[in-house]
Amino acid sequence: QLDQYEKTTAGKIRVFCRIRPVSRAEAAQGGAIVVEKIDEYSVTVETPRGPREFQFDKVFSAEASQEDLFHDTSRLIQLAIDGYNVCVFAYGQTGSGKTFTMVGDKEQKNPGIIPRAFNAMFDIMRENSSKFSFKVSAYMLELYNDRLQDLFASQAGEAHAHTQSHGQARRVEIKRNRKGVVFAQGAETKEASSAQELYALFQQACANRHISATKMNMESSRSHLIVGIMVESRNLTNGSVSSGKLSLVDLAGSERAAKTGAKDHQLKEANSINKSLSALGDVISALSAELPHVPYRNSKLTQVMQDSLGGNAKTLMIVNISPTEYNLDETLTSLIYATRVK
Ligand code: ADP
Ligand code: MG
Repeated sequence: QLDQYEKTTAGKIRVFCRIRPVSRAEAAQGGAIVVEKIDEYSVTVETPRGPREFQFDKVFSAEASQEDLFHDTSRLIQLAIDGYNVCVFAYGQTGSGKTFTMVGDKEQKNPGIIPRAFNAMFDIMRENSSKFSFKVSAYMLELYNDRLQDLFASQAGEAHAHTQSHGQARRVEIKRNRKGVVFAQGAETKEASSAQELYALFQQACANRHISATKMNMESSRSHLIVGIMVESRNLTNGSVSSGKLSLVDLAGSERAAKTGAKDHQLKEANSINKSLSALGDVISALSAELPHVPYRNSKLTQVMQDSLGGNAKTLMIVNISPTEYNLDETLTSLIYATRVK
């Protein structure tokens, strides 16, 4: 089922660019559209110094549907089942459509990549159930100010049994097993036997994320969400076992901190996000330049994503951007970051 392209692009990172529709707030400001898709692979941005063009593996306009986006993502699900480490992550400023792309809208009328991936994964497993038996398990983490939180550990009430005296949740540490697969030591891993069950776990994790954000008086867009789905498949004929992993990441907003008016904790947050996103950029550009040393250890984010970047991993980055002039600076910054990858 895999075409030659999939087989020969081990370690290569693909980048999609998605332009979101003009929001109501932008329309109310009369925000001029400065971003335009030119063709399947290019986007142009009208800057004060003239137009600038950027190339990607695929560009999605504001009219692109969630189905369109998933259509080009879904073959990665097959790869995870085949034993590859696959990672899909969304990058962009707050409000650019990362969560819409990864999760969908609040009412789930327009589900994003995560729920679709869950369904596709179990569909594929069902189709292959005469030849293979499968085991699916998941961890769901939040990375905030360089601290990893287990989103399965309830943040409210009873979880305080696990809480240390200084009021922080159980420590989660990133470790790698002998095969180099990342696992979250101290975080719970839960099994799921259907897409519905997996989605219920995800919803529970999102609810916990919301509770913890509210407690810390933090916007959830200021933290990274990391979902890891492990798939183990056993060949019923010869008993051989392979394991793959699908990582789904909704990154914290990439915007720079407001120069004035930011409170201490907001600056700390911004610095930590900046540091982790630039560490991610450094890892990706080291990989695409095929440098001998890849600086995974520079941040928790790159440690947590290490087995999904480089090596045999299949990585898809989606850079989400706003179409209007109001966000021009951040849009350019995001597009430049995303083109470092190639
Ligand atoms: P982010 O996660 O990057 O902060 P969101 O995904 O929350 O941004 O998007 C901001 C708002 O724009 C949300 O109300 C979201 O539903 C809406 N939105 C984003 N992308 C799209 C899209 N492609 N189509 C329709 N609405 C979108
Ligand atoms: Mg978001």
